[in-house]
Amino acid sequence: MHAIQVTETGGPEVLRYAEVDSPQPQSHEVLVDVIVAGVNYIDTYYREGIYNAATPFIAGLEGTGRVVHDPKGEIAPGTMVAWDHAFGSYAEQVCVSRDRLVAVPEEISSDVAGSMLLQGMTAHYLTHGVYQLGEGASCLVTAGAGGVGLILTQMAKALGATVYSVVSSPEKEKLAYEAGADQVFFYDSGLAERVRRYNGGRGVDVVYDGVGKDTFQESLEAVRPRGTVALFGAASGAVEPIDPQILNSHGSIFLTRPSLGAWTSQEGEFQMRAQAVVQMLLDGDITFNVTASYPLKDAEQAHRDLQERKTTGSIILRVREDESN
Ligand code: NDP
Repeated sequence: MHAIQVTETGGPEVLRYAEVDSPQPQSHEVLVDVIVAGVNYIDTYYREGIYNAATPFIAGLEGTGRVVHDPKGEIAPGTMVAWDHAFGSYAEQVCVSRDRLVAVPEEISSDVAGSMLLQGMTAHYLTHGVYQLGEGASCLVTAGAGGVGLILTQMAKALGATVYSVVSSPEKEKLAYEAGADQVFFYDSGLAERVRRYNGGRGVDVVYDGVGKDTFQESLEAVRPRGTVALFGAASGAVEPIDPQILNSHGSIFLTRPSLGAWTSQEGEFQMRAQAVVQMLLDGDITFNVTASYPLKDAEQAHRDLQERKTTGSIILRVREDESN
């Protein structure tokens, strides 16, 4: 089969379109024909070696496709499924752990199904778990027009919260407003002060910061006393070590560095979050903007565009061109 293989970590050029053996499912897995693979920022961390994976490996974690073989015979061949956390998803076939997939209703297109779980479940645990938003709550979202950012904004609005969003261009500003953001800002050193001005001087209840290094200081400044800073990513680089005393001087704030793995680790939690995302999609509470799609062999270009901040919303790889829609 064809796959995007990484034999040594590095820049986007290490994503090589290669001919490799098809994987064999173990008893807890099913073998799937991949139709669409989602492209996520975390894929760039594995490619660069920031997150460890033994080389050679096949890139990618999520996607959608059709079950080929279930060794336990529980899932019928041909069933459409979507999954998150199956290493090797940038490939024509992948083995997916049975507890990391959901059935895909026919109302959901394969382009959306292939990119809905990783970003959707992340937005879900941030807004419903790390800090439970509701009427009267306020949040600040960095990279507000990105994959997670647009979904997080819609979920926060569905919960009745006020959303302040930060983006880098007028095109992204427009998308953030369309997703429901109450006020959209551009990055600059006075960001926290401007957010406070719009929020009655109080600071927001929670900052969802997926940008990291470049925004972390403003995130600390923007949160209210006893509020929460959820540092959930590092698109601009890793945050330097900090002195815990800084949490005191900002008013006894909470700082967490959450992961989707930890927030789907309890019994039934993956299914709960995945089904919640599917249901919100079906109910029209959220819409996924799949703004760019690339043939599988062009994964390198997809990573370049993502890391050069050229993309908005969700982006995908078309693995089976004739079936992606
Ligand atoms: P995005 O679609 O949001 O793409 C990243 C965005 O980050 C860019 O579009 C850009 O938006 C912004 N950005 C700011 N500074 C930089 C920079 N120096 N280089 C590149 N991008 C920059 O990606 P995802 O939705 O896939 O992921 C968003 C973040 O969430 C990532 O940090 C990712 O690692 C994290 N994440 C964390 C999870 C968790 O559970 N902890 C799970 C899923 C994602 P702009 O131009 O507007 O600034």
